[in-house]
Amino acid sequence: MYDYGTFANGKWQSDGQSSFATWNPASPAQQAGRYRHTAPSSIDTIVSDARAAQEQWGRRPPVERARIVGEFLARIEAKAEPIAVAITREQGKPIGEARGELAKSLREARFMVSQGAQADGSVVNSQRRGVRNLVIRRPRGVIAAITPWNFPVLTPMRKIVPALVYGNAIVLKPSEFTPAAVCLIAEASANVLPDGLLQIVLGGADVGRALAESRGIDGLTFTGSVEVGRSVYQLAARNLAEVSLEMGGKNAAIINDTDDLDRCLDQITGAAYQCAGQRCTAISRVIVQERLASDVIAGLVRRAGAFRLGDGMDPSTTMGPLIHKAHLNRVDSLVRQGIEEGARLVVGGAPAVVSGLEDGFFYQPTVLADVRPEMVVAREEVFGPVISVIAYEEFEEALRILNGTEYGLTSALFSNDNRCIQRFLDVSAHGMMHVNHGTIPDDHMPFGGIRNSGVGAYSVGRSAGNFYTTEHSAYLQYE
Ligand code: NAD
Repeated sequence: MYDYGTFANGKWQSDGQSSFATWNPASPAQQAGRYRHTAPSSIDTIVSDARAAQEQWGRRPPVERARIVGEFLARIEAKAEPIAVAITREQGKPIGEARGELAKSLREARFMVSQGAQADGSVVNSQRRGVRNLVIRRPRGVIAAITPWNFPVLTPMRKIVPALVYGNAIVLKPSEFTPAAVCLIAEASANVLPDGLLQIVLGGADVGRALAESRGIDGLTFTGSVEVGRSVYQLAARNLAEVSLEMGGKNAAIINDTDDLDRCLDQITGAAYQCAGQRCTAISRVIVQERLASDVIAGLVRRAGAFRLGDGMDPSTTMGPLIHKAHLNRVDSLVRQGIEEGARLVVGGAPAVVSGLEDGFFYQPTVLADVRPEMVVAREEVFGPVISVIAYEEFEEALRILNGTEYGLTSALFSNDNRCIQRFLDVSAHGMMHVNHGTIPDDHMPFGGIRNSGVGAYSVGRSAGNFYTTEHSAYLQYE
């Protein structure tokens, strides 16, 4: 049983108001953890202690910070298995996916350490004689971070590591459904990171709100739903804190004249059903040429039927449960609504009963055909193992459907036609675009979205540092 409270100034605080529990979503009667809420009234002090730590840390040379953060990563890697188990126990994904999440997270982190270690800035010539201009970047200060439950390690690490390596302190609130992995990461920081640099606060919306509106923060990085993203954006705006928001998606793959349908469907199935569809980059719409639709549907149905649902700790499990009952009900009601609006259920379409785990929050891998772009299931993020197949005649129509939602996270095109590929790259209204492969991102590429999927700098990649630093112009007269 995981048992944690607030982590502040290098220590676990034993006080705390009420407590809350987490459970194994494959078998909710099994409690996974017991946690003490951070009192919202204590957030300002936690933030100001972080500032005191940051003032020292920010003065250290970037290469020295990078060395220390590198050591922190080595400590995390040494605890890789317990951290992966914590992901699966609370989030439910298969243990292989949890190990993969941690491994990817460490690869991304090491890339960001190498970025942060380099002295950033540039020398620019001056319009005046005898003057040299510099553009310098400095640590932003104290970063507040709020993260969701679907990637209990990857998302927090995308914030913790760049924050630290660029010279900031960070106060992070993990999801109340999956805090264990972050608590294990905080434990790994003992005797490596200076006290106060990494502060962990625990709880739900009230703690998140108190953090987002704290006057002491210089930047807020949030990953989660659009609705909550909007609300924390407003709170941070009161203090004019910089924001980076990463929110949901309604990602689609267009299938157009591809010569390898099998490979294409393997990629789509992986992107749609991994983490039981609870990935912000999950493909949830397949926009297919009318003439290919029946082959595509048959191929998706075959692949959907091959998943083995179960407890993520069982090595034979290939799809875990959804996170909680309310989410299971939401996914099911979106599918029902789709059917009522005229979609044709081809496979799945109901909660799944797994023998020995009858109370688990499992949902059958689902394919809906004859979906039209205006249906709710084609517009709203489902965040479950549900693919909607939408047919089209002309490529321009496919592009209109692709861009016809409020989201703009990720898109894919499977095509052999160079003109279609170029047109897709020009007009797809998404932060990340994939041609002839699924939506799994690289470890060093900018990650983020536009429209309702994101605001501000992307995480990961060279440009991530723009959020974690401030820019300064300096003029040096030497003659
Ligand atoms: P959520 O928005 O409900 O919660 C996210 C975090 O915000 C949690 O820590 C939660 O406790 C906190 N929170 C909730 N209400 C709050 C409030 N009023 N003020 C401050 N904080 C509050 O999201 P979720 O259900 O945890 O995660 C699923 C969502 O996250 C999906 O929409 C998914 O697409 C999105 N997501 C996006 C990305 C990305 O990179 N774009 C990555 C992962 C998940």
